[in-house]
Amino acid sequence: MTDSPLPPLRPMPDDWQRALAVVAHPDDLEYGCSAAVASWVADGRQVAYVLATRGEAGIDSLAPERARSLREAEQRAAAAAVGVSTVEFLDHQDGVIEYGVPLRRDIAAAVRRHRPELVITLNHRDTWAHGAWNTPDHVAVGRAVLDASADAGNRWIFPELTEQGLLPWNGVRWVAVANSPAPTHAVSAEPGFEQGVLSLLRHRTYIEALTEEDPETYARRFLADSTSAHGSRFDGRRAVAFELFSR
Ligand SMILES: [Zn+2]
Repeated sequence: MTDSPLPPLRPMPDDWQRALAVVAHPDDLEYGCSAAVASWVADGRQVAYVLATRGEAGIDSLAPERARSLREAEQRAAAAAVGVSTVEFLDHQDGVIEYGVPLRRDIAAAVRRHRPELVITLNHRDTWAHGAWNTPDHVAVGRAVLDASADAGNRWIFPELTEQGLLPWNGVRWVAVANSPAPTHAVSAEPGFEQGVLSLLRHRTYIEALTEEDPETYARRFLADSTSAHGSRFDGRRAVAFELFSR
């Protein structure tokens, strides 16, 4: 018995103006989808980043007190490399983010502040495409983003946010999950590819601790491989793929 071929990836919707990306750690967007963000920003769209943590537990050789500020600075530089100037941190604890009401509330507040039509996050599923186990932070944040995108529109959930002046926002039309093992949609990675490489390269301290390879060679190879992975389902083009949930 042979597997039937997977269907083509559909083009990502483009009738939107504002996107909000919410992920667990500095570097999640640069490994996941910043080439797509670069082309959207170049198109005149607004994209803001919200990070649940400052990635303080991400570098074995660096104590969290030092890693926190360094990784925050690298994240801001990575965002700037693709034209994103709004970067916020929710200050949950790296490595032990808990899925739950406080996380949903913080993300719902961010959605109400930024009023996006498109919300982006990283893989919320148990495994990555090739079966490797995902990390609990990604699962917790991804699931909370899917949930909070709806919470944000319900005035009876988190009424304390309304009291703080954050009015309900029921305008999220899609949640797009990058690096999902079950992508459904894609956008060309070609126009934003070089900026995507630059943005990943901004996480230099992290990359240098991770690999002996030259950081630029590493970043370019990683993104060339990941954006080629779905070419057979997207006219042979380099693509950033997403699992898209419509609302
Ligand atoms: Zn991560």
